[in-house]
Amino acid sequence: MPMGEESPDRRRDVRGNYGGKCWICGLRQVFVRDEAALRESYRCARCEGSLREREQAGAILRCYAYLRCGTLSELVNVREFRRLSVYEPGTIGPFRPQFRRLPSYQQSDYYPPSRRSDAEPAVPLIRTWRRSLFRMNRSTWW
Ligand SMILES: [Zn+2]
Repeated sequence: MPMGEESPDRRRDVRGNYGGKCWICGLRQVFVRDEAALRESYRCARCEGSLREREQAGAILRCYAYLRCGTLSELVNVREFRRLSVYEPGTIGPFRPQFRRLPSYQQSDYYPPSRRSDAEPAVPLIRTWRRSLFRMNRSTWW
């Protein structure tokens, strides 16, 4: 959880619902437990981020705490973060609308040969991601 955020455990009601801010989109709300598995529950009313995805966003915000952003939506607007190459395996979920705003964002998905015509043109097929990831690693970390 980003610094300055109150632990949600301290504010739970008797049903386990709790109030807080979504670390993906920033909407303040009451997160409600539904029938899904715990990690897929407590979805955001705006971006539909699950507890798991919102915690992932919190972890990213902690890694970049020195940029002083309270949400992923804010972080993707910061020049220093925008210089990063971000790779995400997959094509669905609440991170995509945020990360698509970055100049160097790549995502991929696996399509078996019989379904490759179903792939979105903007999403590289899994058979090519290794080269892209290698290129990103070289320019980012080496
Ligand atoms: Zn949200």
